[in-house]
Amino acid sequence: MQIAIDDKHKLIVASEVVNDSSDVGQLHAMAQAAKQALDAKTLQVLADEGYYSSLELKACEDDGITAYVPLPKGNGRLEKKGRFSLKDFSYDGVADAYHCPAGQLLNRTKGRWENTSDRIEIRYAGRNAICRACPLKTRCLSAKAVTRTIRRWEHEDVLDRHRARMQGAAKLMRCRSGIVEHPFGTLKCRAGYRHFLVRGFDKVRGEWSLMALCYNFTRVLNILGFEGFIAALAKVLSSCRNLLAAVMDALLSAMEPFRAPTVP
Ligand code: SF4
Repeated sequence: MQIAIDDKHKLIVASEVVNDSSDVGQLHAMAQAAKQALDAKTLQVLADEGYYSSLELKACEDDGITAYVPLPKGNGRLEKKGRFSLKDFSYDGVADAYHCPAGQLLNRTKGRWENTSDRIEIRYAGRNAICRACPLKTRCLSAKAVTRTIRRWEHEDVLDRHRARMQGAAKLMRCRSGIVEHPFGTLKCRAGYRHFLVRGFDKVRGEWSLMALCYNFTRVLNILGFEGFIAALAKVLSSCRNLLAAVMDALLSAMEPFRAPTVP
């Protein structure tokens, strides 16, 4: 089950039951649904590490959604061997090259490659002669390599911006669980709702929609109070009545020329 909660009222603004056990690939669809429900031009969305996906981050950025998702820690394979990892190389956008730990440049090579995830990569490599003479080469190169190569996704600038954003986002990310766990905690502890009661995708979606509606309704009552809710409802109904009356007036005026003259 995927849900998006607004941070002001803790209301479920978008939700969906999905037939997918992984959260990877869910971020953009949920964020976009929330953005549409809120009729917002831009949106800031916080998600946990399980949602990290470069393609999803790009889709969010393309749609005016600023996403905050913790970076996966990775398995630290190179660090464990005492070797430099990607973190030790910095990209220079002006030179379109990487700076290595020895202060040398890894320049862009010709061509573009498609990796196993169907993403297009550009490769950057050091010069053989420089790497061969480098005092740090034992920490940089594998046993058979003559130079170091860095692979960069064609849209890596999206990830660079996300990485920079995440640097100062610790406080923001601490708020995340307090926002999204609110409905889950309420539904589990107060309503005792711990599993779906029906079976089948469509039925489960329907069951969840009812639970989300109940949660939102009780939340609205808690925020506005019963009398406040009735007053808000009356206001909406009254504006609808005014609208209906205006439409009827307009229709009657439009029909006026077609009406038969009244015989005295
Ligand atoms: S081996 Fe090459 S890429 Fe690695 S640190 Fe030395 S000069 Fe830089």
